[in-house]
Amino acid sequence: MYGALSGDQAGPLKRPAPWRLRPATYRAGQLHGGGGGHLRLGRKGLAIGIDIGGTKVAAGVVDAEGRILSEARRSTPGTDPRAVEQVIVELVEELGQGHRIWSVGIGAAGWMDLAGGTVLFSPHLAWRNEPLRENLQRLLRRPVLLTNDADAAAWAEWRFGAGQGEDRLVCITLGTGIGGAMVMDGRVERGRFGVAGEFGHQIIMPGGHRCECGNRGCWEQYASGNALGREARLLARSNSPVAQDLLAAVDGHPEAITGAIVTELALAGDRASRELIEEVGEWLGLGLANLAAALDPGLFVIGGGLCSAGDLLVEPARKAFARNLTGRGFRPAAGIELAALGPNAGLIGAADLSRVSSRVRR
Ligand SMILES: [Zn+2]
Repeated sequence: MYGALSGDQAGPLKRPAPWRLRPATYRAGQLHGGGGGHLRLGRKGLAIGIDIGGTKVAAGVVDAEGRILSEARRSTPGTDPRAVEQVIVELVEELGQGHRIWSVGIGAAGWMDLAGGTVLFSPHLAWRNEPLRENLQRLLRRPVLLTNDADAAAWAEWRFGAGQGEDRLVCITLGTGIGGAMVMDGRVERGRFGVAGEFGHQIIMPGGHRCECGNRGCWEQYASGNALGREARLLARSNSPVAQDLLAAVDGHPEAITGAIVTELALAGDRASRELIEEVGEWLGLGLANLAAALDPGLFVIGGGLCSAGDLLVEPARKAFARNLTGRGFRPAAGIELAALGPNAGLIGAADLSRVSSRVRR
């Protein structure tokens, strides 16, 4: 996984270091599988986590217990690779003052290769098959790990949040779409090619709404913040009396309604908004039942912006899950819990992954 890094390079190893020969001891931190190296979780150093989103880049210094010691933010400077690299360097320099930083973890939407060195595809980054990690390690003079943002968030929830103690964990992030990730037996499970976890594109309604991926009827067209906004706009345009409060909240302009506005109104008690969230929750539960049939996890952790709806979302999801779970009544059922770490989960997870995996050798 991690190649030898500048700074601690001692030439190619003639034989494995002793710790490479201990298979199970470091399993809790093993990253991405593949039968590669094993991790040391013992290192107490600080790491910087950087979460590159579509509009902002958030960074923080994270300690070995997942606490954020200091934070900094920038706007995402478009997709120009050099500009994004520059922002990363600035953030690390700014946050590194006064802290001894061991490694840097970078989380972004998209697919990274299994070794965490190359961006295969990312909507927010222009890199395509570029060895980004090598470039950044040269600039930052520290170990760097690239990871998918959903994987980073799942790792953080497993290590420090709602998923602690559950070794078969599926994490679902509900935002504009649906992010998915799995932590299985103490490692991030990425599949054979590093692109597992695209649960949002399971087809849940053949012939249904068109999805950005090109298919119709994907789960994220029914159980995401975007889906909530779309259904609320449809309701508002229907001129139904039940949509009065919804329309009033946007001064009579249905096109201004977003999932976030609906969530806010629902929390304030608006009945139509509550029903809309309930419907999204039911779709959520149905998709989770499909995932349970395939993956049999012990727990689903639900994160992302839509989670601010809390029980208004999760209770209907639990009911729909119980109603649709295959073998219900004859099998233990996975729990469904809200994420605990909030919007910083990706940043914390990216930092921690870089810290615990930065001693891994092939
Ligand atoms: Zn899709």
